[in-house]
Amino acid sequence: MTPPVVTGTSDTKDARNVFALRDFHPFEAFGARFLYMVPSAGIFRMDECGRAILDALEAGPRHQDDLVEKLNDRFAVDRVLETIEELTEIRAIGGPDAPKDEAPNDLPPADFPLNTMVLNVTNKCNLACTYCYEYGEDKIVDTQYGNQPKFMSEDTAEESVEFLLKQSGGQPRAHLTFFGGETLLNFPVLQKTVAYARRRAAEEAKTITFSLTTNATLLKPEIIRWLADNDVGVTVSIDGPKPVQDGLRVFHNGRGTYDVVLPKIKELIATHRSRPIGARVTLTQKNLNVLEIYRHLTDELGFREVGLAPVTTQEHRDYAITPDSKDAMLQQFEELADEWLEHALRDEHHGFTNVTDTIEEIHKGVSKAYGCGAGLGLLGVATDGDVSLCHRFAGSPEHTIGTVADGVDREKQEQFLVDHHIAEKTDCHTCWARPICSGGCYHEAHVQYGDSSHANLHYCTWVRSWTHTCLEIYGALAEKNPKFLERYDA
Ligand code: SF4
Ligand code: SF4
Repeated sequence: MTPPVVTGTSDTKDARNVFALRDFHPFEAFGARFLYMVPSAGIFRMDECGRAILDALEAGPRHQDDLVEKLNDRFAVDRVLETIEELTEIRAIGGPDAPKDEAPNDLPPADFPLNTMVLNVTNKCNLACTYCYEYGEDKIVDTQYGNQPKFMSEDTAEESVEFLLKQSGGQPRAHLTFFGGETLLNFPVLQKTVAYARRRAAEEAKTITFSLTTNATLLKPEIIRWLADNDVGVTVSIDGPKPVQDGLRVFHNGRGTYDVVLPKIKELIATHRSRPIGARVTLTQKNLNVLEIYRHLTDELGFREVGLAPVTTQEHRDYAITPDSKDAMLQQFEELADEWLEHALRDEHHGFTNVTDTIEEIHKGVSKAYGCGAGLGLLGVATDGDVSLCHRFAGSPEHTIGTVADGVDREKQEQFLVDHHIAEKTDCHTCWARPICSGGCYHEAHVQYGDSSHANLHYCTWVRSWTHTCLEIYGALAEKNPKFLERYDA
């Protein structure tokens, strides 16, 4: 056998055996230590020897021989060497001068399939919520006096369905969601669109699912029956108990909506049993009692799922959440997250979807190049058929990338994908939370910085704390009830 060719001087060989910590985020659960790898989003549980090596490297790079010597009273030499090799393989450690692992900056393929389309079936609303991104002070589309028709026509809705079926390519499933304004103001078109889409999807041998968001004021028995019979997922925008709801979600004459929506929501939940009915809460400086809101919506109203999101608005508005309040809000989120974990450890459902959604992303090893699917797997359609990044940009000329009749302008879409890629967000390149966050929501960025491609730096502390909390929950489940996580398998 020919002996192996040895290249390099003994100094360079020696340098190869110097190790330093690489890019990861450590977290613990039930005394076990885990590493969340960046940017791959892999999670690894450390054994005793792995922990000891990482601890020893905390103070700076060390030679392999130093590590062996330091740890030889606790671990056999072979075990230390083996563990060094494993840690190198998962890229938790490496040469001190090794380049950082960057997210690949290649763009998704041009024929990336569309899986969700959000139809703004109307831009009219029967409520006048101050913070509304569509009608409020931070609106980006002039829905009231602009050129957009108030209602989407049946023809445009059908063209949108054709667009979705075509753009979903080889995917067997597609999802259509209806948005507004208040969606139920255009109930006739909604009904016809669901029937049309179901028929056309069957002809194309595809499955299409439906959902909508409503403020619940226009629900009535026949609409509820139709939603249930047609298996349309429903999310209700609601902000909490009567004083909260009536302070923020009001009719145009200023009257509160709580007493109107309460019986309708109860009937919806009682009748529509095939899909869990979700509540979507917008948190503002004026309604920050997260625990009270959550309990009211689940225990008293019966919602199975509740998702809470801070309002998108400029910082000087009186309902914008102040930095101190953001901390208090986070504390309450963490309290609910602990409760979520207690339930999960007992194999029980807990409706706080902010945790559920993040745990699912962690479990699936999601490492995003984009803050969300907008402009790629998800598109919004304005009432006139203009195609935009998502429902929040529907009707904004600046963010329109085509029409349902003529298709997407691929050049515009590609420019959007280049500009919004994580590779362009230099502030995010050193952040361990980037696989999950990737700069965040484009609409939030547009409102805060006037630029949808800007990273949402005003939320970094929040995002990192929240992601850390969810990682700890994930670790706790991996330790004590790993079976629970199987529900998130793809
Ligand atoms: S916006 Fe902030 S939290 Fe999000 S990836 Fe960028 S630096 Fe990290
Ligand atoms: S841009 Fe923001 S609002 Fe639009 S889909 Fe993405 S996360 Fe949602």
